[in-house]
Amino acid sequence: MERRDFLKTVGVAAMAGGMTSGLTGIACSKRKFTKGSGMKLSYEIKQLNLRHTWTIARNSSDFKQNVFVKLEKDGIVGIGEAAPNVRYGETPESTIEVLKKAVPLFANADPFKFVELGYDIQRLCEGQTAGKCALDIALMDWVGKALEQPLYRLWGLDPEKSPLTSFSIGIDTPEVMAQKTKEAEPYKILKVKVGKPEDEEFIKAVRSVAPYKPIRVDANEGWTDKDVAIRKIEWLVENGVEFIEQPMPSHMLEETRWLRDRSPVPIIADEAVKSARDIPTLAEAYDGINIKLMKSGGLQEALRMIWLAKSLGMKIMIGCMIESSVAITAAAQLCSLIDYADLDGNLLISNDPYVGATLADGQVVVNDKPGIGVREA
Ligand code: MG
Repeated sequence: MERRDFLKTVGVAAMAGGMTSGLTGIACSKRKFTKGSGMKLSYEIKQLNLRHTWTIARNSSDFKQNVFVKLEKDGIVGIGEAAPNVRYGETPESTIEVLKKAVPLFANADPFKFVELGYDIQRLCEGQTAGKCALDIALMDWVGKALEQPLYRLWGLDPEKSPLTSFSIGIDTPEVMAQKTKEAEPYKILKVKVGKPEDEEFIKAVRSVAPYKPIRVDANEGWTDKDVAIRKIEWLVENGVEFIEQPMPSHMLEETRWLRDRSPVPIIADEAVKSARDIPTLAEAYDGINIKLMKSGGLQEALRMIWLAKSLGMKIMIGCMIESSVAITAAAQLCSLIDYADLDGNLLISNDPYVGATLADGQVVVNDKPGIGVREA
C-alpha cells in the first residue's frame, strides 16, 4: 500500500471510531481505492408480503413495497433499504425521486468522507427520510466493507450489550390477537398495538395466552382525550404494561406533558420524533424516544440522536417499520447504546430477500461480517 493510501485508511478508521488515537483492534484495509471515479447508484422496488394483515390505529395492509439501493465502487457494493411510510408523506415513487436526485451527488462522491456525504444526503430534499435512509445505510455498508469491519466495531460498540427485542402484535379481533400471541411464544417481550375503543379487550386477549410476559403498548397517536388516555394508562399499568408509546397525536405536546406528569410508566415519543432537532422540545413532554432509521434518514443521524437524547437523560428505543433484514441488521449495529429494542420488522414478512442479523433467545444478534453484514437470501 502506498503511504498516502495507508494514511487515508488510518484516518478514516480513526474518525469512524470517534477517536484521535488508539486504533487497537481495527485492522486497516490493504485494498486500493480509485480516486475521482465516484459511486454507481442503482435501485429497485421489491414487494414484501406480510405473514398477517398488519393493522395499527391508523391503517391496515397485506404487503409493503420497499425500495432497495446499491452503491458500487471498486468492486464493493453497499446495500440499503427504504421503507416509505404514508404517515410521513412517502411512497415508493417519491422515494425513487430522492434516489434520482442522489445519482449526481454520488457520481462525484468520495465515500470515505461519509460524514460530509451524510449531511449532503440529509439536504437532498425536504422530508423523504426513507430514501435518505437507504442511501446512508448503503454508504455506511460500503465503508464498512471497504475497511473490512462491521459497523459496530468502527463505532466502538459492543453488540453483546443489546437489549432483548420486543415482538409486535397488531390490532385484530381478540381471537386473532390471542392466536398471534401464541405464535409469538419464542419472544420474551410483546409490543401490543392499541389506540382503539376496544383496547382493554386487546390486552385481555394477549394476557389470556401470556399472563406474565412483559408487555409494552403503542397507541400510534390513537388517543385524543387526555382524561381518557390517563384512565387507559392506569388500567394498562395494572395489567403489567411497561411503557406507553405515542399515546396522543404528535402535535398534542401540552396534553402529552400533562399525561407524562401523571403516568406511572414512561411515555415514549415515536411519531413525534424524526431527527435530532426534534429532541430538545420533546424532552419536556416525553421520557424517551423511539428512533427509527426510516425517520432519521439513516444510521449517522440515528447516532447523533442517541448522543443528544442520552445527554438529556431520555430513554432510547430503536424501532422499525415493516423492513427486510437489510434495515433491521443496520439498526441492530447501534443496539448496545439503547434501553429498548423493537426490531421485528423482518419477522413480520414471509419473503425476506436478505439474510443478516438473527434472533437468539429474544436478542437481535449481528454477525461479524463487514459493513452491516447482510447477503441476498
Ligand atoms: Mg410506534
